[in-house]
Amino acid sequence: MRRLCFFAAALSLVALPVRAQQAAPSAAPIDWNAVRDETVDKMREYFRINTTNPPGNELQTALWLKSVLEKEGFETQILDTVSLGAGRANFYARLKGNGSKKAIALVHHMDVVPANPAYWSHDPFASDTAGGFIYGRGALDMKGEGIAQLMAMLLLKRTGAPLNRDIVFIANSDEELGSTGAIQFADKHPDLLKDVEFLVTEGGDNLVQNGKLAYWGIGVAEKRTFWQNVLVKGTPSHGSRPTKQNPVPRLVRALDRIANYETPLHVTPGVAKYFKDISVNYRGEHQLWLSDVEAAIRIPRARAWLTNDVYWNATLRNTISLTGLQGSNKTNVIPPEASAKLDIRLLPDQDPEAFLATLKRVVDDTAVHFSTDLQPKAPLESPINTDFFHAIERAAHDRNPTAIVTTPMLTGATDRPTYRKLGIITYGLDPFMTEGADGQRGVHGNDERLSITNAGFGVHFLYDILRYAQ
Ligand SMILES: [Zn+2]
Repeated sequence: MRRLCFFAAALSLVALPVRAQQAAPSAAPIDWNAVRDETVDKMREYFRINTTNPPGNELQTALWLKSVLEKEGFETQILDTVSLGAGRANFYARLKGNGSKKAIALVHHMDVVPANPAYWSHDPFASDTAGGFIYGRGALDMKGEGIAQLMAMLLLKRTGAPLNRDIVFIANSDEELGSTGAIQFADKHPDLLKDVEFLVTEGGDNLVQNGKLAYWGIGVAEKRTFWQNVLVKGTPSHGSRPTKQNPVPRLVRALDRIANYETPLHVTPGVAKYFKDISVNYRGEHQLWLSDVEAAIRIPRARAWLTNDVYWNATLRNTISLTGLQGSNKTNVIPPEASAKLDIRLLPDQDPEAFLATLKRVVDDTAVHFSTDLQPKAPLESPINTDFFHAIERAAHDRNPTAIVTTPMLTGATDRPTYRKLGIITYGLDPFMTEGADGQRGVHGNDERLSITNAGFGVHFLYDILRYAQ
């Protein structure tokens, strides 16, 4: 042990002048090709650990992160193993800065959704490389991003970059099912988060089409799920003698009113910025409408054009998708009750109770009962004029001076609201330039893959952002 220590000390003496040189503001001599190769190796090891949720098995990935970081001289913590259940864990590490400014947290989830090998051209847990891509469940959602975060933090340490802000590294379990990892981390370890000002995780959405970047999409807001069960009770009887107590027609009438109800359009600040930013890609009246969407929604033609796009429509209003439906399972039986499921997604600044009251007015039938299946998370709408957002803009413009850095709203849900509750400013940031078609097919789908070029690109991009945000 002693001999090893002496050896390490001698090595670090030799390494010192190099470190000092690299810390200089002028181009630090990082070998980015070597970084890319190391990133690919680490991704392949990480993707091979099967963290399909359920059951998750995130303790295995947490142990892997621990061994990698401890070799680099980090102190780490494996947390919540008892409360999360057998084989599960959260993970925490921190790179110390000088403490003159508040910390930045890099957060990812270690679990992945199931993959059916029958539909993949490569084993989802073999980490094969082919045609310039690494194939693996989690490559895009979001173990790949987790390794990019890890590598960016390792490089800051190795190069001795001057840090005003600590870098906090957090890996959670169970994002894909119950979010218990992030919820427990935020509930049980506020002490580890109390100095964190900014937090980044998934929820960014960069638009790349045919290799061309249309914009960097930084997630500042997300819709809130507010799922409802709609129930009508009646009297069961034989289908050969129709009755007024059949609950099915009554439910159908209520659902018809809901389906025909148009929720009002409402523009939130991030969405207004998003439309204004992308307006430069349009011409004529389209450009005019996008540049002031608040005004455009009052013009019938503009309104029709905007809401014709399913994504745009979903970012401009509360939405209701009628999904599940249950009546009788026999054609000749009038059932005792009939029910339906509503997937409601609210804009961040909306009051769920007020929305429910409106829905009851629309239905206008006291025999129709609503109950909440999923309560909304805390609202998420992060400010844009911050050091961290400006750091992202700067790193993006380094790479492409005319790149648009904008704020599309996420219509799905992430763990960000859980951390936002603690007062932390959270951003969704995707460090990769993933082709739209790859994301569409791979995320929660088949042949999920990340290009090797992207692996290197993502680490460099994150490294620059973290330095600029100091
Ligand atoms: Zn995810």
